[in-house]
Amino acid sequence: MRQARSNFQVPTRFPGPAGGASSLLGGFGGCFAPETLMQNLLDLETSWLEAREDPEFQLELDLLLTTYAGRATPLSDAPRLSELVGAEVLLKREDLLHTGAHKLNNTIGQCLLAKRAGKTRIIAETGAGQHGVASATTAARLGLECVVYMGARDAARQAPNVSRMKLLGARVELVESGAQTLKDAVDEAMRAWVEDPDGSHYVLGSALGPHPFPRIVADFQSVIGREARAQVKERTGGRPDAVVACVGGGSNAIGIFRGFLDDEDVELVGVEAGGQGVETGAHAARFSGGSPGVLHGTHTYLLQDGGGQVRETTSVSAGLDYPAVGPEHAALHALGRARYGAASDEAALAAFQVLAKREGILPALETSHAVAWIMENAEELRGKRVLVNLSGRGDKDLDTVLRVLGERL
Ligand SMILES: *Cc1c(COP(=O)(O)O)cnc(C)c1O
Repeated sequence: MRQARSNFQVPTRFPGPAGGASSLLGGFGGCFAPETLMQNLLDLETSWLEAREDPEFQLELDLLLTTYAGRATPLSDAPRLSELVGAEVLLKREDLLHTGAHKLNNTIGQCLLAKRAGKTRIIAETGAGQHGVASATTAARLGLECVVYMGARDAARQAPNVSRMKLLGARVELVESGAQTLKDAVDEAMRAWVEDPDGSHYVLGSALGPHPFPRIVADFQSVIGREARAQVKERTGGRPDAVVACVGGGSNAIGIFRGFLDDEDVELVGVEAGGQGVETGAHAARFSGGSPGVLHGTHTYLLQDGGGQVRETTSVSAGLDYPAVGPEHAALHALGRARYGAASDEAALAAFQVLAKREGILPALETSHAVAWIMENAEELRGKRVLVNLSGRGDKDLDTVLRVLGERL
């Protein structure tokens, strides 16, 4: 096993108390965290496992998800996209969740856990800014102090979200190290948590990091899959043939996949950022261009060079621009239960325009990768029923899209 170099590569032990959730997912996952965080991670696991069984916690979570966040999100048909692709396309509308993406499902869950543990402050990292906005929103609603770490490069390309976080009362710390994107923001957020493990909770934004984070995040996002499965059944009487979602860290994808894992006839497809093309090396496609290693506390697929140094990633979408994928996806990939493809920047931008002009929806650039994949694989999907997780709306990306498409508009 080659190991990527990072502050959190030191393998110590794999927690998972008797009766607790296993930290290992088919050889992936685990908890490669510094000793100073171990007690915190163990406490978090205990608190989460207790909360799962606590009807009062579940009631509070449900109430916030329905009356504040706007769940259930609708399932839309997509007649004009379906016509183009030659398949029956259905869209799970997480873009209609409060703050415009699926992120709030997780921040509400984790902030409730933080309150339950008596924490007064949350730390979050953000890439595209959606997780930062969701964290700041939830912190405001629940009366928690909020600090968000964001790469300076991401802050520049997602400026409206930086303003949004500030207006919501969060402190935004720009990270000037490394490539100034999501990986660097995670480094800094983890460092900040190490400094204040007792007062703070680190609200990790994707199904990533050391155990128990990937499990917790997948758990809170699984509401997407539960709703979607019931909605597809109600609408069609059956199931989708394929479920397609974009994969950054993998939280929206694992959230919708979780609803269909046991339906062996339902194909699960994750779409990574192909950037300028997987063959160019300038991308964030961990399964086509990466190998197993350890980053940010978890053993998973990541982009690294022959010496185990983490490689820089390239994607037009900040939310997919991260060198490692959530360990549950690495396990599903190894099991052959899910398959992973990639869509290039160019394909995603084309899909963005198709969804805008044919369905009246401006999707996030992250989400556009999932739509691009179904367009590129239309041949194979012909006549099938395809459920796409529409993870977020594209308002935050308008600057980027207009800049890239400027001449062609
Ligand atoms: C953050 C984000 C993603 C990528 O994160 P995942 O954890 O892979 O879901 C995808 N889509 C949108 C709209 C996002 O905001």
